[in-house]
Amino acid sequence: MHPRPNHITASMLPALALCPGRWNACKGLPPQPAGPDAESGTRIHAVLASVASACILTEDELQTYDMCCRLRDSEVERVFGSAKHESYNERRLVYQTTGGDFSGQADRVLADDTTCLIIDYKTGHEPVSDATLNWQLAGLVVLQYLCDERTVYESIEASIIQPWCKPQVHSVRYDTKDLDQAVAGIRDLLGKAYAHDAPRKPHPDACKYCRAKTTCPEALAEMKALQVAPSLGKLSDLPNADLAQRLDQCAQVEQVVKAFREEARRRLGEGAELIGWELKEGRRMRKIIDADEAFGWWWERTTDDADKEDFMQFVSVHIGKLEKATKTKVPDHLVEETRTAPMLQRKKE
Ligand code: SF4
Repeated sequence: MHPRPNHITASMLPALALCPGRWNACKGLPPQPAGPDAESGTRIHAVLASVASACILTEDELQTYDMCCRLRDSEVERVFGSAKHESYNERRLVYQTTGGDFSGQADRVLADDTTCLIIDYKTGHEPVSDATLNWQLAGLVVLQYLCDERTVYESIEASIIQPWCKPQVHSVRYDTKDLDQAVAGIRDLLGKAYAHDAPRKPHPDACKYCRAKTTCPEALAEMKALQVAPSLGKLSDLPNADLAQRLDQCAQVEQVVKAFREEARRRLGEGAELIGWELKEGRRMRKIIDADEAFGWWWERTTDDADKEDFMQFVSVHIGKLEKATKTKVPDHLVEETRTAPMLQRKKE
């Protein structure tokens, strides 16, 4: 793993656009431990960048990797057709500003003499904001425009490839005028974020992965505000605008609570004593790993008139794996579709 840059990077921009004070607030704080989804994303990215072999991937990760490759190839075909171009993976570009350095590392860059295509893979199941409004992508575009001394691009395209979300590919094209505007926008944001008095503005999307969330006065004030919310008995009287605001505060509180629990789990795992708390074993999960052998085992123990159909009541078929193997959608008459209750989600800005 590369050392963490000690300056603002393109991936920090979406959060800084919401809370400019986040950079100063996080200075010197230890990194947050990566969750399983982030670790999975890192493995898939390593294989996509050809710095690791596909054998490190689980079956599901391999499927994500295959989908990323397919979508990337069609993007390259769309932009360059059969024209000759260069390509490289994960090269960090650094640009110096008066406030501090700014860097970014696109997952893949493809370029000829006039055009450039930047690809950013998102391997999770949560859609990211629209490519046209995406600060991270804008930051990567600006770095390519300012730091690639080889040429002056007439246009730069940037595409988010997110195989598990809709749309799977989201592209934005920056022509010369857009590029100049993007440079001004990024410079302005960097200036605000590097300012010593940059304001801290709690926002669920900014605070979610912020390392300062358990100490930041503004984030903690949001928690306090939730405590003085009307009692549950009066909840139905709460105006819609207030309820929406409470939901944002709930998101902050959940993040802080999660951070405390993770820290406690880490310390208890290392043998620390937390009065009244202990780690208990994780939930036990069991699954059949050999369906054939399980069938034989059942067959030996069942009544004489049982047949294979009786066994089928114990069998569930993994729809995703079946469709992957056949490269065909399972016909509707074989599928029962149900939906859970609608889920609450914050609108992407
Ligand atoms: S916790 Fe939230 S408000 Fe505080 S610095 Fe981090 S992002 Fe900003």
